[in-house]
Amino acid sequence: KMAQSALFIIFGGTGDLAYRKLYPSLFRLYEKGYLKDDFAVIGTARRPWTDEHYHEVVMNAIADDGHESDRTNSELAHKFASHFYYQSHNVNDTEHYVALRNLADKLDAKYNLKGNRIYYLAMAPRFFGTIAGHLKSEKLITDHGYNRLIIEKPFGRDLQTAKDLNDAISAAFSEEQIYRIDHYLGKEAIQSIAALRFGNEVIGSLWNKAHIDNIQITLAESLGVEERAGYYETAGALRDMVQNHILQIVSLLTMEEPKAYTASELRDRKVEALRNIKIYSPEEALQNFVRGQYGEDADHEQLDYRHEEGTDENSQIETFVAGKLETESPSLAGVPIYVRTGKRLAQKSTQISIVFKDLKQNIFANSESDTKLAQNVLTLFIEPDQGYRFDINVKSGEQSYGVMPIHLDYHKSAAKKAKVPEAYEKLIHDALDGNRTNFAHWHEVAQAWRIVDVVRKTWDKQDADFPNYVSGTMGPEAAEELLRRDHRTWVYNP
Ligand code: NAD
Repeated sequence: KMAQSALFIIFGGTGDLAYRKLYPSLFRLYEKGYLKDDFAVIGTARRPWTDEHYHEVVMNAIADDGHESDRTNSELAHKFASHFYYQSHNVNDTEHYVALRNLADKLDAKYNLKGNRIYYLAMAPRFFGTIAGHLKSEKLITDHGYNRLIIEKPFGRDLQTAKDLNDAISAAFSEEQIYRIDHYLGKEAIQSIAALRFGNEVIGSLWNKAHIDNIQITLAESLGVEERAGYYETAGALRDMVQNHILQIVSLLTMEEPKAYTASELRDRKVEALRNIKIYSPEEALQNFVRGQYGEDADHEQLDYRHEEGTDENSQIETFVAGKLETESPSLAGVPIYVRTGKRLAQKSTQISIVFKDLKQNIFANSESDTKLAQNVLTLFIEPDQGYRFDINVKSGEQSYGVMPIHLDYHKSAAKKAKVPEAYEKLIHDALDGNRTNFAHWHEVAQAWRIVDVVRKTWDKQDADFPNYVSGTMGPEAAEELLRRDHRTWVYNP
């Protein structure tokens, strides 16, 4: 591992994301030696902070993340924080970019940064265009090093706004310079999907329409909207979870095999996979997508969504989505993909189930115990649990010849899990490396919007019957019916 030289300019340096994710991730990269002496960070936001205050904030962020009391005061933390500079900055003020450029050039010389710059926009997307434009016009973009722009979701609120946003940032940065964060792509168990599919003869050879009956993806949260009602009221679960995280997972599960595990191969296969997802007509959207909004829990202790702080009392925003997707990919055509996500569900868990077909012939059917064989299911646990479960049939152990299902289970131990780098740490590391494998390409983002836009527009035309599920359950009855009508059930049923 080579230490990298780079200047980070973080827009939104006083914000929640910077504090909880960016500063701790940068520190871990520093601890591991990916960042050493040749790096500096400029934090910008409107507040007038001093460098000293900024150092304290960075040190607190490290301490809060590590839960280690002496971590803030360690020599390493002090040394790390000394690389941080604060610049008060209003993103709409051209003069401020001149000041920023002067500081950037000064730090470049001081820390030997070779003109390498990473601009991290940890701010609301409505500022992205303005910032990118000024970075170019005020010549912060260097001509002798690399210049990379990292941006956060949400990337638009439909295809049109996403296009506008993309046009605005593309006026200053090329696609190769843009790193769109989808932090699910930084998760270990999501990155492992490719290894599982393309690193195993047994699994790879069964991963097709001849053997797979259906695929199920669940991103369940147990919490409600918490403090994010302001944002959530403008988004909803379809935009917040399905357009990005769920469709990224769908693309990894349904893409054809890449020739090699490289960013460009993977991107081409993922774009293809998303283009193979059927775009529904409005009628099909209504048949294949279910929306929900949480009510109180069974004990009337938790508030329903419409009574949460900051929500509209007649809110039409969905806190739950379930859908059935159809793919026309050559190897999986006809295999339904059921997806669901929601807040205030029974349990916090992200998991994927690959349900294999019934055996064509059951030779045990006429034996004394008249056994019905359970389907083989391969489950991928993404979080908080990380692991795999494979359901297979074996002899039941009774005198008569019965067959019963058992689980082959692997769960990463807490110690192993603790060693896995956190998503943001991995993604920032990749951005430093110039590796775009785990970032979303514009074509992926655009296609994902095409898939969800028709659902959104169809829903927007009629009032929803909300609230329609009890907090602490797995969503509205219609989400069960979505599978039942296909003679299937959700594998994950806490
Ligand atoms: P935040 O509100 O905590 O921080 C916003 C930052 O922008 C602050 O530093 C604020 O001072 C700065 N800012 C606002 N207006 C400004 C202006 N005119 N000029 C200069 N600075 C200005 O937001 P956040 O939670 O840190 O989120 C930042 C971005 O990351 C958003 O796009 C959000 O959607 C995305 N995001 C956040 C999280 C998270 O966990 N917080 C997760 C995923 C995506």
